[in-house]
Amino acid sequence: MADKVVKFGGSSLADASQFRKVAAIIKSDEKRKYVVPSAPGKRFSEDIKVTDMLYKCCELAGSGIDFSEDLAKIRDRYNGIISELGMDMSLDQEFQTIEAELKKRPAKDFAASRGEYLNGKVLANYLGYNFVDAADVIIFDTKGALLLDETVKAVRSRLKGLDNAVIPGFYGRTTEGVIKTFSRGGSDVTGSIIANAVRAEIYENWTDVSGFLVADPRIVQDPDVIEVITYRELRELAYMGASVLHEDAIFPVRSAGIPINIRNTNRPEDAGTMIVSNDHDFSRESLGHTITGIAGKKGFSTINIEKAMMNNEIGFGMKVLKVLYDNGLSFEHMPSGIDTMSITLDTAKLEPVRDKVLADIRREVKPDHLEIEDGIAILAVVGRRMKNTRGTVARVFAAMAHARINVKLIDQGSSELNVIIGVSEHDLPEAIRRIYDMFINSEK
Ligand code: ASP
Repeated sequence: MADKVVKFGGSSLADASQFRKVAAIIKSDEKRKYVVPSAPGKRFSEDIKVTDMLYKCCELAGSGIDFSEDLAKIRDRYNGIISELGMDMSLDQEFQTIEAELKKRPAKDFAASRGEYLNGKVLANYLGYNFVDAADVIIFDTKGALLLDETVKAVRSRLKGLDNAVIPGFYGRTTEGVIKTFSRGGSDVTGSIIANAVRAEIYENWTDVSGFLVADPRIVQDPDVIEVITYRELRELAYMGASVLHEDAIFPVRSAGIPINIRNTNRPEDAGTMIVSNDHDFSRESLGHTITGIAGKKGFSTINIEKAMMNNEIGFGMKVLKVLYDNGLSFEHMPSGIDTMSITLDTAKLEPVRDKVLADIRREVKPDHLEIEDGIAILAVVGRRMKNTRGTVARVFAAMAHARINVKLIDQGSSELNVIIGVSEHDLPEAIRRIYDMFINSEK
């Protein structure tokens, strides 16, 4: 019987009532043996995450300022959870150790890691599960890069013979024994690594939304949840800013062929989103919509270059791209015509070298016309089914035409996994709504 690894985010463990929901979820399935908690997150929108409170303590400690009051607030949060759950447990000793350590060595990663560490202790105690310190099993090199093979070995040997375990997310230790965290949101990564190490049947990532949405709910009212998405599709959407999961959480499970299920702690009855491998067998899947998701991002510029007979000039593109290279710029898209070429790039990155780039291009290729257009948004329509469906692109453009939105750029990759279009930033929300209507509402 393969096991399940379950990770709970900060809002899922923000207070005692959330702890009760989490315990009920874990206890309702005996396969949920390995649990990875975040630190307590926000209970309401103006609340402060324990991780942020810990960073603050560390900052104060580093400046030699008394941080005992700030640390006491953190202790109160844990004590509140402990007493409301009616547990017989004291973290006093732990807090004394943390205070002493921060006074001696105010290390940021150590400070931040204590949020997960303490929450792991409380949750393990509440569930009656074993506590396994992530510092014993998640191993980084001295530069802070994860050592996956060593980590997997350490996890396996530590978990051997244990029926269950709570392993705090977000941190581990370097080969020199120094506590090190992942970047923010990194408990997702811990969960993925543990799933890989125990060859879990599934990695359940419990959060406060019922999965990935087809479109941004701030733009489309009450959008559908994506039922199934491939890693590749997810990467396309995540790149465009749709974020639920830490980017580095994909690799450890993907390489082991383990699906991720995004679930909602507050609505455990929802199936959530299943993230599956690119070669997943979809033959039994209900057909669903042509597209999987739509995402857009503002803040792009295009460099438009025109020169008669450009197509005959050998090395034209190379010279232009060399200018970008020399100025340390990467680009997103480069559609071209016979006498024109336009390059889309991130406005913020272009900004510091804007004039130099223009001057360099002028010098290198002597264009007839050269300009930069700002205020461009890029929109990606992503879907694995597009490849076998005729007319997808036509429908995207029909949607734009009906809304009188000018399409400034078109790009369809050879994978036929997505269609990228560029529009004015102010047209982006309407463009997304129209495409949602065209593919989701009208296919219902
Ligand atoms: N608690 C950490 C953060 O706030 C890590 C996590 O929640 O995944 O970033």
